Amino acid sequence: MDQNIKNVDLKLDNIEVLTSGTTAEFVNGILDFLLYQRRQIPFVYKTYKYYVDKWSEADESGQSKDQESFAHYQRNQQRSKAKATKESISDMREVIRQAFRSSEVKSLRFLFGNNTFMPSEVYTLHIPHDSISRDHYCEHHALPEGRINQALLRLLTCEELYTLFSTELNATNVFLEMELLTDTGGLQGSHCDSVNLIPKHVFSKVPRSCKNIHLHLLHCSENAPNELRCCKELDIYHDLGLLNLDKSGADVSKSSEEQDFLKAANETSGWWQAEVIVRGFRAPGNQKSGDLWSS
Ligand SMILES: [Zn+2]
Repeated sequence: MDQNIKNVDLKLDNIEVLTSGTTAEFVNGILDFLLYQRRQIPFVYKTYKYYVDKWSEADESGQSKDQESFAHYQRNQQRSKAKATKESISDMREVIRQAFRSSEVKSLRFLFGNNTFMPSEVYTLHIPHDSISRDHYCEHHALPEGRINQALLRLLTCEELYTLFSTELNATNVFLEMELLTDTGGLQGSHCDSVNLIPKHVFSKVPRSCKNIHLHLLHCSENAPNELRCCKELDIYHDLGLLNLDKSGADVSKSSEEQDFLKAANETSGWWQAEVIVRGFRAPGNQKSGDLWSS
């Protein structure tokens, strides 16, 4: 077996109900983690965003118009690059949220490299899409940040990834590709326009030299989510609102196993690439990096 392939289980436990919204937040947590861990941003995303937003505020209030020196010019150049990186990360996070909201995501991958054909590292996230409950609202089952961090901490201490994470990776591009389930075999063009995804007709194979990491997201819960009735009542009103009352009796009479079977039989998926690309940001080594972030 190819030495560069690594399979790692990533458990999300003590979460009663997994909704598409909470799964998206978990995926975004993994994106943030990888961006920082693979040195595409100098701080964790939250801190990075805080600094960059602070510059924008200072710019608006005219605080940074003081000097016209070359050093000042250089610093502004770096800052605008850092801002662009922050904005692309924020856009990618939104693409992920929207994709989970509007489609069933089977898997997705983050490719680190100059282009999607010759990436140096690929992280494929396998989504437990059968465990995602559609009968519950994510607002009622928000994922505490601590839980995400707990799961990610395990990734950090995972032996399989230790060698990989201790190697240097230069600032590069990060691409996002998503495998979406479709029950009719073909997605309507308009369906994905809104989330800025481009259909990928040729699925690019990962070259042998590439580090190929598969993260299997697992949802462990003691209760079956269907047995929890917290959001059920709301669901009825929701359905009424949509005038979706005439769900045919035939559907209901089928056992859930039959329905699962039918679903699996109709299940096809396609790959899509996000338009947004994150360009890793690293302050040049000859500058005092403190200068860039402070003041
Ligand atoms: Zn619920």
